[in-house]
Amino acid sequence: MELSHIEHIGIAVKSLETAIPYYENVLGLKCYYIEEVADQKVKTAFFKIGQTKLELLESTSPEGTIAKFIEKRGEGVHHIAFATKCVQKCLDEAAEKGVQLIDKAPRKGAEGLNIAFLHPKSTMGVLTEICENPNEK
Ligand code: ZN
Repeated sequence: MELSHIEHIGIAVKSLETAIPYYENVLGLKCYYIEEVADQKVKTAFFKIGQTKLELLESTSPEGTIAKFIEKRGEGVHHIAFATKCVQKCLDEAAEKGVQLIDKAPRKGAEGLNIAFLHPKSTMGVLTEICENPNEK
């Protein structure tokens, strides 16, 4: 598949309120955007370093996938997101190569990106997101 760069790294945190000061005061990055994505039950905070972003994810519900992830594995890196021009094309290619998909078609993620996930069972444990920016087409 044709990927251009790492769009962002998703990091599961218990509390944005606790995590943001670390990224700002210790790493010296600036949180430029906070968004709640209701259907994914997360509140996200974004930082930018070079062309790559960090996406902190806090669960808004104990039933959310981030809450369950933290319960099982603790806070930490949750997923890696690669940028592409066409998510659907990447999904079709991955499926053809026997990769298990979480999303068979792209859906809307934070920042208006079209996103889809490959299943970590097929990616040696790394939850892999593919995303495209519809405004960059
Ligand atoms: Zn993401």
